[in-house]
Amino acid sequence: MTPPDTARLQQLDRDHHLHPFTDFKALGEEGSRIITSAEGIYIQDADGNQILDAMAGLWCVNLGYGREELVTAAAEQMQQLPYYNNFFKTTHPPAVELAETLCRLAPAHMNRVFFTGSGSEANDTVLRMVRRYWALKGKPEKQWIIGRENAYHGSTVAGMSLGGMAPMHEQGGPCVPGISHIRQPYWFGEGRELSAEEFGKVCAAALETRIEELGADKVAAFIAEPVQGAGGAIIPPDSYWPAIKEVLAKYDILLVADEVICGFGRLGEWFGSVHYGIEPDLMPIAKGLSSGYLPIGGVLVGDRVASTLIDEGGEFYHGFTYSGHPTCAAVALKNLQLMEQEGVVEHVRDVAGPHLARRWKELEQHPLIGEARSLGLIGALEIVADKASGKRFDKTLAVGNLCRDICFETGLVMRSVGDTMVISPPLVITTEQVDELVRLAHAALDETMRRLEQQGVTVKTTTPSHMETPA
Ligand SMILES: *Cc1c(COP(=O)(O)O)cnc(C)c1O
Repeated sequence: MTPPDTARLQQLDRDHHLHPFTDFKALGEEGSRIITSAEGIYIQDADGNQILDAMAGLWCVNLGYGREELVTAAAEQMQQLPYYNNFFKTTHPPAVELAETLCRLAPAHMNRVFFTGSGSEANDTVLRMVRRYWALKGKPEKQWIIGRENAYHGSTVAGMSLGGMAPMHEQGGPCVPGISHIRQPYWFGEGRELSAEEFGKVCAAALETRIEELGADKVAAFIAEPVQGAGGAIIPPDSYWPAIKEVLAKYDILLVADEVICGFGRLGEWFGSVHYGIEPDLMPIAKGLSSGYLPIGGVLVGDRVASTLIDEGGEFYHGFTYSGHPTCAAVALKNLQLMEQEGVVEHVRDVAGPHLARRWKELEQHPLIGEARSLGLIGALEIVADKASGKRFDKTLAVGNLCRDICFETGLVMRSVGDTMVISPPLVITTEQVDELVRLAHAALDETMRRLEQQGVTVKTTTPSHMETPA
């Protein structure tokens, strides 16, 4: 039974609250789930259910919930100086200390950071910086930015334009002009007639083709997430990034690596770019920067762009009231210090990531699963109607959403992107908790299958030869 206070909050929520990325009417009919507290990797709802949060909030609560040190850092900073800006030749200790720490952790050629309030604002900043850079270089016609289909770079006008989410482009447009999208390196979804290796090269070749079409003298930058997050935890084939790197060098085009999810340990290095050995000119960051405890983002700027902006730029007419907000910066700084002290990145690389990789792969044996992939602490499951061919269920069945709802009911937050189930748990997850996560995911898949069969939907369960368990 729903407790009276939950019902009251659900009613008020229905009456007054427009949720992000939500069908308002449908949610009003269903009622929202109210989360009231959290500890470690678990959240608790208003009805007292404990749920393992395998999404770390929205890919951000990397240190887990309930870290007193972060609470104290915020409280102390708010007593000392709750707010001051970084405009008009002023600054404050937290912004400076955070800038220094970030540049120390970032690749050696990145020594400057511009702060924002979010990842979307970081990508708005990227768009303006990239075009300004080329204008200062005397090449103002270098305007085009190439992104990828099904990429996510935020929800502001620039963020959604750089991103490649077609449903977003269709609402409230037109998009920012001068942005072009190429295909994504999504092997399971779009490339299985080739080997992963070949497919990665084909996707990188698409970049070169597009550059030639637009004219290399008109292309300013290429933007991409090292691993696509919101698009469905899409891990590119190993051949992809080295080939992309070559193309960009050949045509003198800037690389923007959107590290909003991959940054701060998700792939087992401080930045996803380090994992892939790429050297971006700009890296938008947010989310894990503060473990989501307070909103903060930024753009790490490589020496090449920074020196031009500094030496030749004059005033850059850009910034936000909350750029480098002292309380947010103090929490982010403490978050990074704790990550260093506790060896969180090493834990992901050497312990939790490899353990998840082994345990997650076992789910590929499940009749519903066409592929189980992971890297560091990001992972996905591809739900299919036919294991042998990889054929999907009819879209109208919304099997991904069904599985997600079952997860929630049974104590696990897993996100669905179409029929791809995605995880991105807190980086402090232990190996025992990884086992619990896999157990819960397996049970949710069983229940999803049971409900499908109840509806009379057939699931073809023959195992394709490449997946047979070795003897
Ligand atoms: C979440 C996200 C953003 C947008 O960040 P917000 O803080 O929600 O504005 C940008 N890029 C990537 C890769 C993201 O995952």
